[in-house]
Amino acid sequence: METVVSGIRPTGNLHLGNYFGAMKNFVKMQYKHKCYFFIADFHSLTTHPTPENLMENIKQVLAEYLACGLDPEAATIYLQSDIHEIPELYLLLNMISYLGELERCTSFKEKVRVQPDNVNAGLLTYPVLMATDIIIHKATKVPVGKDQEQHLEMTRNFASRFNRMYNVNYFPEPVAYNFGEELIKIPGLDGSGKMGKSEGPNNAIFLVDEPEVIRKKVMKAVTDAGPTEINQKKPEVIENLFLLMNAVSASETIKHFDDLYNDCTLKYGNLKKQLAEDIIKFTNPFREKIKELKANNAYLKKVAEEGAEKARKSAAKTLKEVREIVGFKEF
Ligand code: AMP
Repeated sequence: METVVSGIRPTGNLHLGNYFGAMKNFVKMQYKHKCYFFIADFHSLTTHPTPENLMENIKQVLAEYLACGLDPEAATIYLQSDIHEIPELYLLLNMISYLGELERCTSFKEKVRVQPDNVNAGLLTYPVLMATDIIIHKATKVPVGKDQEQHLEMTRNFASRFNRMYNVNYFPEPVAYNFGEELIKIPGLDGSGKMGKSEGPNNAIFLVDEPEVIRKKVMKAVTDAGPTEINQKKPEVIENLFLLMNAVSASETIKHFDDLYNDCTLKYGNLKKQLAEDIIKFTNPFREKIKELKANNAYLKKVAEEGAEKARKSAAKTLKEVREIVGFKEF
């Protein structure tokens, strides 16, 4: 059994890509491993949400996590800001992280490029906070996307540097959780390769999208002029629609439209109508569940409190040991 940690910033709604690429696997993982899932609300402060927005976003993400099937009985689900040991370990790790390596980080350079007016120190030390989140539970596995691999590499550097510096074998060096075959990429609706929340208004289908919104987005999906040769290879934009169908539609439905494509009689409008209805059918229970959970503040509070208690136990043990290793001992 591995110890797994994964966090998500409360900065947007979950879309189908998040569901199939992360949540669905997390749900399975939580019954096999010791899992910590947290809402990275400290991290989200780098973009300065208002106090009202911050709490609203946190509750929304928590409700969406739970609606996807994260189980507070099986996994430890908590808010990063509830664990005061996190900022303390972050401070200690900051003492062994260096300006050069932080400035070289690709995601930092990207932030400097897109938000030159807000290059705060929190952005620079973002990887240190991320490393803290992971090693505070002495995690061995982290489910990360390609974009997070560098941060994980930095986490390993900090962990091994700490061990070397204090001549201990304390922190494990965490590696990426490998989902193997199960890792699928959900394409966007606007012809771009990947569904993502910051790719424009018509790219992603969110779990909270109302049926009308889903129909509109799907009907606007990018296509081409249609097949001209029997059994021709599908261009990427069309393949994308079939990949989406693969995720939400019945196999007979997919075969039906595939056959029509192959003998050049497919009307994209019909395929889109069917795809929209299948997405709606798929997302309906999630949307309902999210609404129900959002309306139950007492339950969300209870989940967060119980999760914090469990996470604090693990974090406090690590911090106590780390303080001793660093040299803060009793008089
Ligand atoms: P993000 O919302 O981009 O921070 O993504 C959070 C996680 O969701 C990623 O690390 C991936 O595991 C997963 N994910 C995001 N977009 C997609 C996608 N289009 N297809 C598959 N998985 C995705």
